[in-house]
Amino acid sequence: MINDLRLTDNFNLKEFECRCCKQVKIDSELVFILQRLRDTINRPVIVTSGYRCVRHNKEVGGVENSYHLQGLAVDIVVDMNLERLADLARSVGFRGIGIYRNFLHLDLEPVRTWRG
Ligand SMILES: [Zn+2]
Repeated sequence: MINDLRLTDNFNLKEFECRCCKQVKIDSELVFILQRLRDTINRPVIVTSGYRCVRHNKEVGGVENSYHLQGLAVDIVVDMNLERLADLARSVGFRGIGIYRNFLHLDLEPVRTWRG
């Protein structure tokens, strides 16, 4: 049950584990900045994808060199306008931001924004 480890006020290691095999690897700066975003918006942040093993990444159609494979990216769902959320994510330190229809992809570098 080590993955029940609390990382920050609102995030637990378990939330970042691979959905298929429960392996986990997640960058501490990424979690720290995610908590900063959580504090800024003050509403629930649901992590829909954190770390992914190679197999799971393929299953969900992730790109071959996805940052999820290195624990350097998260996908989140928040009940708010995602363009607004993307602006706030940028302001707290996320540098790579993918805006999708119902979730945001966040990572640390390089600086870029895309819509998927
Ligand atoms: Zn897996």
